[in-house]
Amino acid sequence: MSFASVKVKNLPPYLFSSFQQKKKELEADGVDVIDLGIGAPDLPAPSFVVDRLAEEAKYAANHRYSTYSGCAEFREAVAHFYKSEYDVDLNPETEVLALIGSKEGIANLMHAVIDPGDTVLVPDPGYPVYRTAVQLAGGVSSPLPLDHSNGYVPLYEQAGQDVMNRAKMMLLNYPGNPTAATVKFDTFLEAIAKAAKHDMLLVHDAAYDMITFNDYEAPSVLQVPNAKDRAVEFGSLSKSFNMTGWRIGYVVGNAEVIKALATLKSNMDTSQFLPIQKAAAAALRSNFSAVEEHNRIYRARMEKLHSGFRELGIRADKPNGTIFLWAQVPDGYSSMEFADKLLNEAGVIVTPGHAFGSRGEGYFRVALTVSEDRLDEVVARMKKLDIKEGSRP
Ligand SMILES: *Cc1c(COP(=O)(O)O)cnc(C)c1O
Repeated sequence: MSFASVKVKNLPPYLFSSFQQKKKELEADGVDVIDLGIGAPDLPAPSFVVDRLAEEAKYAANHRYSTYSGCAEFREAVAHFYKSEYDVDLNPETEVLALIGSKEGIANLMHAVIDPGDTVLVPDPGYPVYRTAVQLAGGVSSPLPLDHSNGYVPLYEQAGQDVMNRAKMMLLNYPGNPTAATVKFDTFLEAIAKAAKHDMLLVHDAAYDMITFNDYEAPSVLQVPNAKDRAVEFGSLSKSFNMTGWRIGYVVGNAEVIKALATLKSNMDTSQFLPIQKAAAAALRSNFSAVEEHNRIYRARMEKLHSGFRELGIRADKPNGTIFLWAQVPDGYSSMEFADKLLNEAGVIVTPGHAFGSRGEGYFRVALTVSEDRLDEVVARMKKLDIKEGSRP
């Protein structure tokens, strides 16, 4: 007798677990493994946010259940953030919902919007949670192809006319994980037009909205006129404020979708701990100097690794955002072969591109979540490998 459900058994194996297992083995052998695999910031949350959490934790009133949708202070701070950053008006009562991290929200959104058999377009390559969330809700995910040749802007034609007509929902993510691609506003204009033409919901995951470099500013999909008719946008404090473990994010936009998700969630959770919501509100109302400081650090790391890769003959575009470098695997290797080689022969963990979808094959993702010294070490170790000749002729 097996107690695990078919649903759970059908989930794809968690790719990182095999790398993490090998990492443990290598470390037990005394290897100094450098982990550039998992996209979690290494820097601390800003101290004013930590201070606010500590202060709010002292009040008994904050130890009670939050309202299901998140406290007014948090939802108003999200609305304030959208007004000041994007000049987008949001009703904090009906168009903002607090989440226990955006991953939770994205996974539950599928159950709130998708019926069994519904088609959902997911970016390929893209964040793997999208596909598994659709699968868990009984939906069918269909790849929305992205390609280096046009800057990873959606290739709607290649998705197929049938699929475009059938799809109930389309997911996008810019600045993007894993590609680090950033887009101009017209990409969102086109996306909303496509969503309207094919009568689907557009879901934009803006997890890296504030992590940008070189004067690039990421647009919001809600800046498109009437976007709220058919779009929602997810946001998170995790990456921009180094608050991954705090589990606080939000979704904004279409009131019907927000209500459906809030109704579903009210049967599953009771929102996040109030002091965390209030500290996150303080972060969203801050002057973002902490975010700018983090961005300077990520950008310096990115420049360093990019030039190291160039010396090694490894091609990668210089991104304008995210905490990733998306690089081409040298000729002669599959993504998996190259990632294996880096781990076994250099003690460096990267994520093979195919983990993000079939169109990620031929690439690998590096998370810029270690110091510049460690990145120097990565390049030094890679220089000792004979990577110009692949394992296959
Ligand atoms: C990290 C990440 C998330 C999840 O963020 P949480 O708010 O911590 O759940 C969502 N989307 C993308 C693309 C991410 O990289």
